[in-house]
Amino acid sequence: MAYEKYYNVVIIGGGASGLMCAVSAKQHNKNINIAIIEKNNRVCKKLLSTGNGRCNLTNTKACADYYVGSFKEQSKKLFKRFDTEYLLKIFEDLGLICNSDSEGRFYPISKQASSVLDVLRFAAERPGVDIYCSESIKSIKKTNGKFTVTTQATQFASDKLVIACGSKAAPKLGGTASAVDYLKNFGHKINSFSPALCPIIVKSNLLKSLKGIRAAGKVTLCDNNDKVIKSETGEIQFAESALSGICVFNLSIYAKPNCKISIDLLPDYSFKELYKLINKHIDLFSNLSCDNLFTGILQKRLSIAVLKMSGISDFAKNCSELSENEIKCICRTVKNMTFCVEGNGDFSNAQCAIGGVIGKEINESTMESKIVNNLYICGEAVDLCGECGGYNLHFAFSSGYLAGENL
Ligand SMILES: Cc1cc2nc3c(=O)[nH]c(=O)nc-3n(C[C@H](O)[C@H](O)[C@H](O)COP(=O)(O)OP(=O)(O)OC[C@H]3O[C@@H](n4cnc5c(N)ncnc54)[C@H](O)[C@@H]3O)c2cc1C
Repeated sequence: MAYEKYYNVVIIGGGASGLMCAVSAKQHNKNINIAIIEKNNRVCKKLLSTGNGRCNLTNTKACADYYVGSFKEQSKKLFKRFDTEYLLKIFEDLGLICNSDSEGRFYPISKQASSVLDVLRFAAERPGVDIYCSESIKSIKKTNGKFTVTTQATQFASDKLVIACGSKAAPKLGGTASAVDYLKNFGHKINSFSPALCPIIVKSNLLKSLKGIRAAGKVTLCDNNDKVIKSETGEIQFAESALSGICVFNLSIYAKPNCKISIDLLPDYSFKELYKLINKHIDLFSNLSCDNLFTGILQKRLSIAVLKMSGISDFAKNCSELSENEIKCICRTVKNMTFCVEGNGDFSNAQCAIGGVIGKEINESTMESKIVNNLYICGEAVDLCGECGGYNLHFAFSSGYLAGENL
C-alpha cells in the first residue's frame, strides 16, 4: 500500500550525476536528508560500462570546446571552476586516485570503473543517503511548494527535486527519455534526444565487402557544401552499413544526413608521396594483377574497394597496364574515400545523446531550473554532449556536484 516518506531532497536517477549530487549535498549540509530513486536494480549500471569497464572520468583538456548543445555557452562558466584538477581533487577527497594516459584521459589507477562507483556509493551511504532501487515512477507533481513522487510502492514528498535520469542512450544500461517526459510536464522546453557517440550510417554498396576491417586513418566530416566540420585521426572500423571507431564517434555528434565523410587511408603521405609509392609498387608488382597493387600497404579487401571506387573493375589486368589517369584516380581515392552520411546509428549503440533541457532554462551557477523553483537538472538530461575522452562524465559529475552544493 502507498505511504508517504518525506525528504528534503529527492533525486531521480542513481547514475553518475545523481550519486555525485547526493554526495555533494551531504558534504555541504550534513543535516539534509536525501533519497535517490533508481529504476534499475542497482545504481550506476552505465558508469560500470564506461571506458570499457575502466571509466574514463575526465580529461586534461576538459573545457567547453569539446561539447555541443544549447548549454555550451553556459558550460564555460561551469568549467571555469570545475576544471580537470578540481574534479580530480573532489574524487581524491573521496579516496579515488587517478592517472592519465598519453591522450590525457584520466582513469582510476585500479583501472576499474567499480572503484569510482564504490567511492561514490560509500560517500553517499556513510552519511545516510537513502537509495531506493527497482522503483518505477508513476507520477511526479508539485503542489503547494512540495514535490510528490509516486512509485509502484511508495509516495515520496520533498521540498526539492533533482532530475538526474540521463538520456536515452544505451537503454540496456538504463537509458530512458524520462527526463524529457518529466520536465516537459513542468513546462520546460526540450531538444529531443538523438543518438551520439555512435557509428555513422553511410550509403554505399561497397561497405558490405569491408565488414570487419579496421584501418588507421583520418576521417573528415564535411557539410553538403563541402565545408569541413571536423577531422579526427584514429582507428576506423568498417561495419555492414556504417563506419565506426572512436574517431568516427567524435564526428557523430556533428553528423547530419547528406553530410559527407571522407577517409584518408594514408594520412602520413602527401598526394605526391603516395603517387611515388604507387609507382614503385607498379614496378615491383608489374606482372601481377592490379588487385595486388597495395600489397604491403593496405588490407586486400580494402585495396579492392579502393580500385572499385577508382572506377577499375577489370582486376585481371596487370599493375603495369594501369593508365596514368587510373593511377592518379587511385591515389585520389586513397586520400579521399568518400561516403554520404545517412544518419547516426540507434540509441542501443550510442554512448551519449544530443538533446535534453535547453540551456537557457537552467541557471548555470546552481543547475536550478529557471521555470520551476527548487527543481534541479544535472548530467545528460541537460542539452550538452561531449566528445569521447571523459568529457561526458566530467560534465555529469561537475553538474551533479554543483547542483548538490546548492540544494
Ligand atoms: C558504453 C558506454 C561507455 C561510456 N564511456 C564513457 C567514458 O569512458 N567516459 C565518459 O565521459 N562518458 C562515457 N559514457 C557516457 C556516460 O556514461 C554518460 O554521459 C553519463 O553516465 C551520464 O550521467 P547521468 O548521471 O546523466 O546519466 P546515467 O549515468 O545514465 O544515470 C541516469 C540514471 O537514471 C536512471 N533512470 C532513468 N530514468 C529513470 C526513472 N524514470 N526513474 C528512476 N531512475 C531512472 C537510470 O537507470 C540511470 O541509472 C559512456 C556511455 C556508454 C553507454
